[in-house]
Amino acid sequence: MLVVGNGRLFTRDANLPYIEDGAVAIDGTKIAALGTTEEIKSKYKDAEFIDAKGGVIMPAFINTHEHIYSAMARGLSIKGYHPKGFLDVLDGQWWTIDRKLTAEQIKYSAMDTMISCIRNGVTTIFDHHASFGQIKGSLFTIAAAAKELGVRACLCYEISDRDGMEKAREAVAENAEFIRYAIKDDTDMLAGMMGMHTQFTLSDETMELAAASKPDGVGYHIHVAEGIEDLYDCLKKYGKRIVDRLYDMDILGENTLLGHCIYINPHEMELIKSTDTMVVHNPESNMGNACGCPPTMELVRRGILTGLGTDGYTHDMTESYKVANVLHKHHLCDTNAAWGEVPKMLFENNAAIANRYFKAPLGVLKEGAAADVIVADYNPPTPMDGSNLNGHILFGMTGRDVVTTIGNGSVLMKDRDVKVADVDEVMAKCREESAKLWKSING
Ligand SMILES: [Zn+2]
Repeated sequence: MLVVGNGRLFTRDANLPYIEDGAVAIDGTKIAALGTTEEIKSKYKDAEFIDAKGGVIMPAFINTHEHIYSAMARGLSIKGYHPKGFLDVLDGQWWTIDRKLTAEQIKYSAMDTMISCIRNGVTTIFDHHASFGQIKGSLFTIAAAAKELGVRACLCYEISDRDGMEKAREAVAENAEFIRYAIKDDTDMLAGMMGMHTQFTLSDETMELAAASKPDGVGYHIHVAEGIEDLYDCLKKYGKRIVDRLYDMDILGENTLLGHCIYINPHEMELIKSTDTMVVHNPESNMGNACGCPPTMELVRRGILTGLGTDGYTHDMTESYKVANVLHKHHLCDTNAAWGEVPKMLFENNAAIANRYFKAPLGVLKEGAAADVIVADYNPPTPMDGSNLNGHILFGMTGRDVVTTIGNGSVLMKDRDVKVADVDEVMAKCREESAKLWKSING
């Protein structure tokens, strides 16, 4: 038994949203009870006690679009790389990196990303992976790191024809093999999807092979209309818009997750809505790649299940929240935009997306929910209660304020000390491997 108490407890459960001096009791991997610190302490006298020291106790964050393969790009300068548009960014940077990644580098990219997630209070991630020089086994390597670090992970490999049909077929097989493995895993900590890069690097033949190889019960995770070039390509080659092509190829559905959706029109939104397909928004990545601003507020207004990710740009979900908030106000010239939509995406919709793949209720602290709990060292200068937590997170908190992270009932970090890895050792190994990767890229 574990009790986390002596903090402002925010549950995200409408039946009991806030307890001023609250505590949560954890039994194994699940939440056993919630109450005042006094009540819970007296009920579970022998439990290990984690003192929140008056900070904030809340559900851990979920990131619905990550890229572990980008971990070793930080500080890298690629010779001759001067991108003039989104396609240059993909080809000149990301495809250049992913083609060179070795199994060891995939492992340490995963370790670094997941340690950073733990430090930012993120315990569940949906990753979209590519390593065209090392396809086979790549998802299993990432899954092993997730298991070692106690992070809940829904993984996929982004299938693409960009390096030829043999690699595309290998990528389909990696997804299929991993999905079958994840379905058999009964820890509720691993899941798999059929990953796809984007329609403009996928022929009908490859899409059909992916469909034929995909085990039942899972969907696709694919980038959609991230750049205007993707839309032009689809219109030119297929005479239809991107979401129409995906609909015709039977890729949409309640288990499918579409990244970005910047260049989609109202008809495509209707297709997404009518098929109950999920969407994930990644504000910083879209801005950084000069891709444009997606119609995210409209998607949420239409009731499309839209979540918030980072696209590997950061692992701090509060950063993505802050940027989404200002991006849509700026883009729509509307001072009232995004106040309600973005926290709904981050806290409600990310949990709903995650719970299409994981069984235990996520993103909420209530009896029977997954014991994914964080403590933030946050001492508010203004009144704070159940009605204004989102305002405090938006303007006052960052991922660095998270001091304790509990994932599936295990203490992953306590008082900023990561318990599941020797961080200095892992970072030294990451630097060693990334130096090798950079050398293989720049010669
Ligand atoms: Zn992405």
